[in-house]
Amino acid sequence: MNVFDCHTHWAPCFQNRDGRNPAAWIELIRSAGVSHAVILPFTGLIHDGKVGQDNDDLAAVCAHPAAEGRMIPFCTAQISVPDEGLAEIRRALGTLKMRGIKFHPWLQGLSPGWAAMDDVCDLAEEFDVPILFHDGTPPFSLPAQMALLAKRHPRVQIILGHTGLFEHWREAIAAVNLTPNLWPCLCSPHVAALKEIVRRCDPQRLLWGSDHGFTLDNFYPYRRGLMELIGLDDKQREAMYDVNPRRLLKM
Ligand SMILES: [Zn+2]
Repeated sequence: MNVFDCHTHWAPCFQNRDGRNPAAWIELIRSAGVSHAVILPFTGLIHDGKVGQDNDDLAAVCAHPAAEGRMIPFCTAQISVPDEGLAEIRRALGTLKMRGIKFHPWLQGLSPGWAAMDDVCDLAEEFDVPILFHDGTPPFSLPAQMALLAKRHPRVQIILGHTGLFEHWREAIAAVNLTPNLWPCLCSPHVAALKEIVRRCDPQRLLWGSDHGFTLDNFYPYRRGLMELIGLDDKQREAMYDVNPRRLLKM
C-alpha cells in the first residue's frame, strides 16, 4: 500500500540547507513509511515578493531525480492584485506543471469570498487540479467559507488542509457533509475530533497529512501515532492513505 501525505511543506530550512535537492527530505518521509507527498510552498505564503521564486524552487525540487516522482508540488499566488496572481497561477500550472494550488488565506490576507477566488477556481478547473486551503482559523479560513466556494464551483476539488484544526472541526464535518467536492485532510485536529471526522465524513474523501517540512523537526512519530490512536480498520487505512489521494491527484 502507498502512503500519501497530503500536507507537507518545502520551507527555507530545507531550501537553505539543501538547495533544490530533496534527497534528505525524501529520506525522512521514507523512514516514516510515507511513499508520496503533496508538497506545499512556505516562503511564498509569507512573502508576496518571493511567490514566483518559491514556485520555481518547488517545481525544480519535485522534478529533481532524487524526488523519484514522489513529490507532488502545489503552487501559490498573491491574488490581491488579481491579474498578476492569476498570471502566476497559469505559469505555475502550465509552464512549471505544478499539480495543485495552495492558499493560506489569513496569512496571505486573502478571502475565499473574493471574486478573484472564483477566477482561481476557473483556472483549477481548466488545468484539472485541486485547491488546498489552510483552514480552521478566522477570519478568512473557516471551513464554511471554503464550502461556499466549493458550492460555487462543483467541478473543482477543494481540500480542507486541517479539517477545522482544534476549534472548527465540527463546522468542517458539517461543511464536508453538505459539499461533495470538499475533501477533509486529517492534519492537526486532536484525537477525539479525528475519530468523529472519520465516523461522520464520507470515507471516500478522507485524506491524511502531517504538516511535515516547515521546520527540520521530524513530525512523523507524533502525526502517525495520532492516526494509530483513532483505531482505523484496514479498509479505512487503504482508502485514506492510498486510494483517495490517488483518485484526487489522478495517479
Ligand atoms: Zn501546513
